[in-house]
Amino acid sequence: MCGIVGYIGKKRALPFLMNGLKRLEYRGYDSAGVATYEENRCIQVTRSVGKLECLEKRLEGNNLQGTMGIGHTRWATHGVPSNANSHPHRDCNGHFAVVHNGIIENYLELRRELTGSGHAFSSETDTEVLPNLADVYFEGDLLKAAWAVQEKVRGSYAAVFMSDLDPDRLVALRKDNPLIIGIGDDGYYIASDIPAILGYAHHYLVLEDGESADLTRDGITVYRDRVAGEREFQELTMSAKAAEKEGYDHSCSRNP
Ligand code: GLU
Repeated sequence: MCGIVGYIGKKRALPFLMNGLKRLEYRGYDSAGVATYEENRCIQVTRSVGKLECLEKRLEGNNLQGTMGIGHTRWATHGVPSNANSHPHRDCNGHFAVVHNGIIENYLELRRELTGSGHAFSSETDTEVLPNLADVYFEGDLLKAAWAVQEKVRGSYAAVFMSDLDPDRLVALRKDNPLIIGIGDDGYYIASDIPAILGYAHHYLVLEDGESADLTRDGITVYRDRVAGEREFQELTMSAKAAEKEGYDHSCSRNP
């Protein structure tokens, strides 16, 4: 297991990303990282093996102001815990960043194909095929590219994609790994579990297997089989403080 967080909205993304990851520490991890989309119109990735404090140290002085970003705590399945294997992973041209929880079973075959078509890899992970496939299939629309990636991969994933070529948008995919979406007063949230978004979001939705979500600055659309559906968000009544005091039942770790 590992933790995923994402934010798009009016506030700086980094404080939520770090706090959200902290609240997901109970899931276990060996390394961590964040990516934000910055004013200079590029994606900044910071990663570190070890505890979140190590990542915090690496972030010191970076002055990341971006209002969209993703974060990850990794539990290595493919490739040792190292800075290079930590998420977020980018494609070799640096336009797509992805955090992923799970296993891409056919990654070796995909990696061979991608290497053959000129994509270079900088990690040992199965995950790195995801941003590189997004680079192959991208035709101006990140959601469609993520769907095309989904068709190529076998395995399990909760994954979030972002790109500087289609900014102001996060795309989330879920298959056999938990992912929730939250609505706050100042923006939209993604997380592996509810504690991460307590005190930030007032409504949430547990994505079901096979669903994808498109989060823009104007709203959230949830899709099943590429068809937008009406999904009801639940009110999130528990505050972060109450959850700390009473303990939180991590109910979204189960299928709804
Ligand atoms: N399989 C991926 C990796 O080894 C993701 C592991 C995870 O779920 O944290 O990097």
